[in-house]
Amino acid sequence: MDTIFSKIIKREIPADIVYETDEILAFKDIDPKAPVHILVIPKKPIPTINDATAEDAELIGKVILAAKDIAKSLGIAESGYRLIMNCNKDGGQTVFHLHCHLVGGRQLAWTPG
Ligand code: 5GP
Repeated sequence: MDTIFSKIIKREIPADIVYETDEILAFKDIDPKAPVHILVIPKKPIPTINDATAEDAELIGKVILAAKDIAKSLGIAESGYRLIMNCNKDGGQTVFHLHCHLVGGRQLAWTPG
């Protein structure tokens, strides 16, 4: 299914892209919740983490390692950050193309809800 993120991958809509490989894309969230708020996505359209299989293990690992590298390049590796993957309604997922939020640049509260 085509989502807003597949349109960003195909350059059909603009995004502020900060990182790209053959398999991964990362861009600034349009509605940032912190000074740094990047979305890291596999180019493969996996709708939710529920849909990931053992075949996707390496790809999802690469998403996390990309987030780590981006955090370092943006200067927040030492101060710290959070990686978040929302899943379905109760998780607050609104775009059904697997993505990892990289959030940081300020002290984050730990209050899911
Ligand atoms: P979710 O709620 O699914 O975990 O996260 C989806 C994220 O995508 C939200 O934080 C939202 O602000 C972001 N988003 C939605 N539409 C766009 C868009 O067109 N461009 C960008 N850069 N981010 C978007």
